[in-house]
Amino acid sequence: MKVMVFLFSLISLFSFSAHTAEYAIEQVKGNVYRFTAGNYHSVFVTTEQGTIITDPISPDAATYLRQYLSEKKLLPVSYMLYSHNHTDHVSGGEQLAGTETVVVAHQQAAWDIAFTRLPTRQPDITFNDELNVTAGSTQVQQAYHGENNGKGSVSYLIQPAGVLHVVDWIVVGRLPYKDLPGYDIQGMISSTKAVLSRFDFEIFVGGHADIGTRADLEHYLAYLEALYSAVRDGMLAGKTLTELQQSITLEQFSDLKMYNEWLTDNIKGVYQSLVDDSYFNFRADLDKTY
Ligand SMILES: [Zn+2]
Repeated sequence: MKVMVFLFSLISLFSFSAHTAEYAIEQVKGNVYRFTAGNYHSVFVTTEQGTIITDPISPDAATYLRQYLSEKKLLPVSYMLYSHNHTDHVSGGEQLAGTETVVVAHQQAAWDIAFTRLPTRQPDITFNDELNVTAGSTQVQQAYHGENNGKGSVSYLIQPAGVLHVVDWIVVGRLPYKDLPGYDIQGMISSTKAVLSRFDFEIFVGGHADIGTRADLEHYLAYLEALYSAVRDGMLAGKTLTELQQSITLEQFSDLKMYNEWLTDNIKGVYQSLVDDSYFNFRADLDKTY
């Protein structure tokens, strides 16, 4: 009986938090707000000429956000900007955008969204390198820095607030996701270096995890570089994946959330990329075969 009562309270606790904690909206700086739906974030920017939003996230999240914008008299949505092609960030475009909304994506993201028949609003405008979107006195500078995660994954610099928003390929306050599915590690490193060198920003908002500063991005970059080098060195020394997972600790990054849970997964992801992308399995000069 005690077990039953315990189970019941666990279930009610879960459903309670699922309903109350799933959505959140918070001001980041000036006219820039962060929208949270579960583990996902997007941003919206209120201007004199409508609201600019990034990812709709999902049909349910998009419906919630549109209702919120309507209640706060923040419609119309002038622009909706897709961060990349992945369904778990850009679904729900039809629920969030109005007929007046201009939908923008990188051309590779737009191509993939059309090809895979992803159920969302198709982009109206695409770009290859950079595209600035202006509404009132607000400007969102979109830029592509090459492959990193998914297709056509871009950065947003929102001015004059000085807020940088990136989804998936920069994460602050937490380790990158599990075994880095679909990630181009070199691309993550080079794209992060590019935004650090190109953009003057005060606040960073990730598509997952925390809001941070330039120092948090530098810490994240240092983690990626240390992880990548440690796995490479271990593989050149002939270590197996299990040996790498047991010997690489990177304790200077133990402040990051999910350090205990995901470090071995991150090591596996980098190991796999050195096989798949760098062909360590074809290296005739190494004693060990991968
Ligand atoms: Zn994501």
